[in-house]
Amino acid sequence: MRLTGGVVTNAELVSDLGEASARGELFAVFQPQFDLANGSIVAAEALCRWRHPKHGIVPPDTFIPLAEATGAIGAIGRFMLDQGLRAVVAWRRLGLPIGVSVNVSPVQLSTEDLVDHLGERIEAHSLPAGALTVELTESRPLDDFADIADRLRRVRALGIGVALDDFGAGHASPEHLEQLPVTEVKLDKSIVQSGTDATWRELAERLRGARARDLTVVAEGIETPSHLRRARDLLCDRAQGFLLGRPLERASFDALLAR
Ligand code: C2E
Ligand code: MG
Ligand code: MG
Repeated sequence: MRLTGGVVTNAELVSDLGEASARGELFAVFQPQFDLANGSIVAAEALCRWRHPKHGIVPPDTFIPLAEATGAIGAIGRFMLDQGLRAVVAWRRLGLPIGVSVNVSPVQLSTEDLVDHLGERIEAHSLPAGALTVELTESRPLDDFADIADRLRRVRALGIGVALDDFGAGHASPEHLEQLPVTEVKLDKSIVQSGTDATWRELAERLRGARARDLTVVAEGIETPSHLRRARDLLCDRAQGFLLGRPLERASFDALLAR
């Protein structure tokens, strides 16, 4: 992999990643989600960034899989949850009832006692559970499906939202929309950016089923006005993408909210 500091080996990143959280090198950015009906910001997705002391910003697509393999994902997940919940508390103090979504991989769901931790942190921040959504990112096929489904049911029982991330992308299984206890589906950017007519009908059918179950449909990767039109054609509830708002550090995100 090539980062700003040159070519870096995974082994080097792996050894640094173990300390990244404790050294304060991780930070969260927040990307707004817009309600397509009225254009207001209704939620934010918290996305993790790693500022490596030597190599600069390492993208999550690089370090999250490494963190999953080494177990460092546990500390990263707790950090991101905390950042997300703190943000929601601050927004509520300003009278802005904006929800937050944090990404959770199947690895996190199966190796950590994540569900208890989610419940504890929501309570510690005195927040309604509905202010939080966990986005299930299918970084690999779910071999322990029954276990994952069970944990997600426990997450739902707490009142926390569950989103199926990257829906329609290669590695995410479309059947999971019916099989898992989800409250939200996030269409992968490939759908609005380059979805073909062949996949379109099946997708539209599944989304009709999702809407009948009151699921929120979010379109990701809105980069152009035509992507936005496609999101509207698919009757999406919300949209997220560079055209509408990039991921921002808290101070900048708060400034955006204030406008
Ligand atoms: P994701 O959860 O699907 O997040 C959306 C990704 O799309 C983000 O990339 C975001 O910056 C990017 N994006 C947003 N709008 C646009 C757009 O209009 N065009 C394009 N091309 N991209 C857009 P990012 O931040 O690099 O994150 C990549 C992935 O890394 C995430 O995909 C998620 O799977 C994972 N990730 C990020 N943060 C965390 C985390 O805290 N925990 C876990 N487990 N995974 C995370
Ligand atoms: Mg996500
Ligand atoms: Mg996604």
